[in-house]
Amino acid sequence: MNQSAGFLDVLKSRVYALGRRSSLARATIARLRRLRSAVLGQRPDFIVGELAALLAFLRDSGCVFRSCTALGSNPEPLAMAFRYDVHVRDISAGHAFLQAHRSQQVPASLFLFWDYSGLEHSYSEQFGALAAARIPPIEIGLHDSPVDAHLIQSRFGYDRGAYWAWLNSPDAMTWLATMAADNSQFEAFNDAVLQSFVFRVRATKERFGVISAVAAHGGDLRQALLPKLQALGPEAAQVGRSLFAEPWLTPERLAAAGLATCVDNYGGAASNWCQTSDRGGDIAGMVQRIQNLLRRKKAVQLLLHPFTWDGTKRNGELSQLLRASRAPFKE
Ligand SMILES: [Zn+2]
Repeated sequence: MNQSAGFLDVLKSRVYALGRRSSLARATIARLRRLRSAVLGQRPDFIVGELAALLAFLRDSGCVFRSCTALGSNPEPLAMAFRYDVHVRDISAGHAFLQAHRSQQVPASLFLFWDYSGLEHSYSEQFGALAAARIPPIEIGLHDSPVDAHLIQSRFGYDRGAYWAWLNSPDAMTWLATMAADNSQFEAFNDAVLQSFVFRVRATKERFGVISAVAAHGGDLRQALLPKLQALGPEAAQVGRSLFAEPWLTPERLAAAGLATCVDNYGGAASNWCQTSDRGGDIAGMVQRIQNLLRRKKAVQLLLHPFTWDGTKRNGELSQLLRASRAPFKE
C-alpha cells in the first residue's frame, strides 16, 4: 500500500465514524471509496483476466452458463449463474465484468441497488450507463430491501443516516411492539410498503428497461435488529424478521409488482440449487466452495460484488488459485 492509500485509510476510518449519522458523510465515504479505488484499484484488463481464468476452470469442469432467472426455473446439475449485486461502490468495476461477460458470451445478471437513499439516487445516471451497456446474454434486475427503502424514502426524506439513528433508538422498538400488538396496523404498514415497492419496480423498468427479477439486499433494518431480536419477545421478533428483504419478498408481492422471481428464494433442503459468494474478499474460500459444490453436481449461483476486485483486500487471486487446483472431475 502506498502513502496516499494509507492517508485515505485514516481519512476513511474517521469519516466512517460519522457515516452512520448523516447522508452527507455517507456520500463522502462513497467518494473516498472511489478515490481509494483510483489509487489501489485494478485496471479493467485485470478483472477481465481473472474472470477469464474462472470461466476456463468452470468450462473445464463441465459447467454450462445460465442467467439467474433461468437457473432458478431449471437448476440442472453443473449449471452456473453469475449474480452481481451492484452498489454505488461496484459501478466502476461492474463495467469491466460486463465487458468480460459480453466478450465471452457468458450470461450475467446485474442487480442494481439504485433506489434506496439519496446517495444511490445521486448516482442514478451512472447506474443508467451500466444498464445501457447490457445486451443479451446480460440481464438486469433490482437489488432491493423494500421495507428499508420505503421507510428511508417516505419517513426520512431519503436520509439514510437519520433512518439508521432511528433504527437504533427506543422509538423503533416501540414501533415494532405496536405493530406486533395490532395486526391491522401491521397489515396497513405492509400494504404501504407494497404500494411503494410496486411504484419503485415500475420506475426501475422505466429507467433501465425490462426487469423480471429482484435480489434481496441485507438492509439496515436487518443489521440493526438482528442483535436485538432475542430481547424483543417472540411476537415483536417475528414481526421484525418478516420485514427483512428475503422473507418480505413473497411470490404474491413479487407478482403484484409484475416480477417473476426473487433470486434468493430457490433454495431449500430438497433443491439442487446453491448460492455461494466472494464474502468480503475471501477468494480462496470461494474457490474451495465452488469446487465442493461442483463435486456434488449442484446448480450454483455465484454472487459476486465487483468492488471486491477493485480497491478492496482479497486473500488470493482467482488466476493463481485456479492454476494450482484442478477441475473437480479430472482428478
Ligand atoms: Zn446489497
